[in-house]
Amino acid sequence: MNKLPKPSQQALLAALDAITDPSSGQGLASAGRVSGLQIKEDGAVRCVIEAPPGGEAAYRPIRDAAEAALAAVPGVSNAQVALTAPASGVRMTKGAVPPPPAATPPPRSAQGLPGVAHILAVSSAKGGVGKSTIAVNLACAMVAKGLRVGLLDADVYGPSLPTLLGLERAEPARDGEKLVPIAAHGIKAMSIGFIVDVDAPMIWRGPMATNALRQMLDDVAWAPLDVLVLDLPPGTGDIQLTMAQRIPLSAAVIVSTPQAMALADVRRGIAMFERTHIPILGLIENMAWFELPDGARASIFGEGGAMATAAELGVPCLAQLPIDIALRESADAGVPIVIGAPRSPIAQRFAALAEAVLAGLSIAQKPIPTIRFV
Ligand code: ADP
Repeated sequence: MNKLPKPSQQALLAALDAITDPSSGQGLASAGRVSGLQIKEDGAVRCVIEAPPGGEAAYRPIRDAAEAALAAVPGVSNAQVALTAPASGVRMTKGAVPPPPAATPPPRSAQGLPGVAHILAVSSAKGGVGKSTIAVNLACAMVAKGLRVGLLDADVYGPSLPTLLGLERAEPARDGEKLVPIAAHGIKAMSIGFIVDVDAPMIWRGPMATNALRQMLDDVAWAPLDVLVLDLPPGTGDIQLTMAQRIPLSAAVIVSTPQAMALADVRRGIAMFERTHIPILGLIENMAWFELPDGARASIFGEGGAMATAAELGVPCLAQLPIDIALRESADAGVPIVIGAPRSPIAQRFAALAEAVLAGLSIAQKPIPTIRFV
């Protein structure tokens, strides 16, 4: 029985970094080869090593070495490392060997971001309603369903993805013309906070933010992705409208707390997407209740607002999420709850939300097929 405290993420990454990535000469973690690092309550550790295209066989000894290195970290009860190779035509890592020519071009979305099948906007009429927390956990829940997921934090008012994913010190690398998204918990992540000075006066932020966002779609090595989750800035003003117009969105979801579920707010959100002909998959009611120790539900922010509003406006209510202390703590700790406690009731709610969203995007049962060189 493992009695030692759970190992820290830093200790595990340091152990992985002690192994040299043969393609780049850097440590495995620094080279961006490691994703989906999970530390379970019992000290079991899981992660994925992504070999360069065609390099899976060559990386098997590296995978074995990584497993041994992780298992040797105090507190680790057992370590399992999965090995994958990316789909064709994508160079994942700075310094990695160039991929062979793609047999077919990556799938092109109807709206034109090559290799990205769907872009899903997560929006809210107001700040502080949990939009970013939901975007991150929704993205992780989609990864758990086997999809290739990107997460782009376009919230210029308060980019929170670096904190939510524990990436405060991450600096995206350049690979030729493109920025390489940061790999975290199986997601390819990028934040506007990495490239825009968010302390700059608001007057600069509007056009700058929209241009930066467009650039972050075109100049970041996203492909291949099944879904790119886009965390939009809160509100329904000019910045959000311009973003919605200039970004090839497939669909949007709107997050609100019950008391902010005033019809007028949500109607404005819906109108913004309708003006730009973007389908709205539905509303997500966050902080819907707080469960008391006796199991009773206290409706701290009111009751039934989302259901009533959704019904009135003719859009589905995709999920109701309670106030959950562990959700807040996990957000602060940089490990999304869907990763840190996948069997918790709140994580199950995110899994159901992911299913509803994927059904709305019509990819519930069929992730986009890819050709793999392995
Ligand atoms: P937004 O992106 O809408 O500004 P955030 O996702 O940053 O909101 O969330 C605001 C705060 O509320 C964060 O501290 C977050 O951890 C917390 N939070 C969000 N949803 C919940 C919830 N369901 N239960 C408890 N805390 C939550």
